[in-house]
Amino acid sequence: MSQELAGKVAIVTGGASGIGEATVELFVKEGAKVVFADINEERGKAMEAELGASARFKRTDVSNADEVQALVDYAIEEFGGLHIMFNNAGISGAQHDRFLEDDFSDFDKVVGINLFGVIKGSQAAGRHMSRHGGGVILNNASIAGLLPGHALMTYRSTKAAVVMFTKSIAIDLAEYGIRVNCLAPGHIRSPLTSFAIPGLSDAQIDKVKAAVSPAMDSNQPLKRHGKPSDVAQAALFLASDRAAQVTGIVMPVDGGLTAGDPVNH
Ligand code: NAD
Repeated sequence: MSQELAGKVAIVTGGASGIGEATVELFVKEGAKVVFADINEERGKAMEAELGASARFKRTDVSNADEVQALVDYAIEEFGGLHIMFNNAGISGAQHDRFLEDDFSDFDKVVGINLFGVIKGSQAAGRHMSRHGGGVILNNASIAGLLPGHALMTYRSTKAAVVMFTKSIAIDLAEYGIRVNCLAPGHIRSPLTSFAIPGLSDAQIDKVKAAVSPAMDSNQPLKRHGKPSDVAQAALFLASDRAAQVTGIVMPVDGGLTAGDPVNH
């Protein structure tokens, strides 16, 4: 079995579900020591027990800068360094499908997690990596940050910002041997897209399903939904030395969705 990440220490935020969970499992399998962070303490602790000595869970709210710094410090203390930082945690927030009537009450929360969390995670990890021979920062954006579309406008805005933030710091941090890239997953089956969005009423959830499901079930040239493991494999490539010359890119993992419209070509 290959051990692409042998000797590496990685942090994965949002690691107790979906894409993060699949990445934690894959990175451990590939030889890394992994600290994974989440606000879901119950699931995090259960995963920690299943994964054994190579994985540690640390409860962290990525929108809190002090907690993010404590997370980075913890990884260094537990496993002796930090080579890979995967800023993956993200939430979709409200639909915002009627802009003029919207009060954007969840704006600060979505921006705090999806953008500020990525910025603080990159900064805390980057400060350590810059003093210790470099490393890899990987951010999770979305095709929602690349393609225009109806609704989810706060989410889209944060993901577009993550793309540009990634490119900016890739230039900044190159001199320290730190590579910075981002992923843009397409439609991935995970709790995030199961519409089990906390705080939404059943009626609101039905509305979300009606708006989003048809588009998710078609329009992908590869004609299947992505799986969390599809994104984890892309994360592995970008985190590994195979991608040694790759920095500042956005890698879609979207079944060809951003390549063009397969119906009206
Ligand atoms: P998910 O809901 O399955 O997992 C997200 C995890 O983040 C959860 O465990 C949740 O508890 C955690 N989390 C939420 N708020 C947090 C906070 N403040 N601090 C720390 N952890 C927090 O979602 P997923 O589908 O695995 O999504 C992971 C990332 O991929 C997100 O950034 C998402 O925007 C992005 N993405 C997902 C899809 C998709 O179709 N699933 C598509 C594009 C991009």
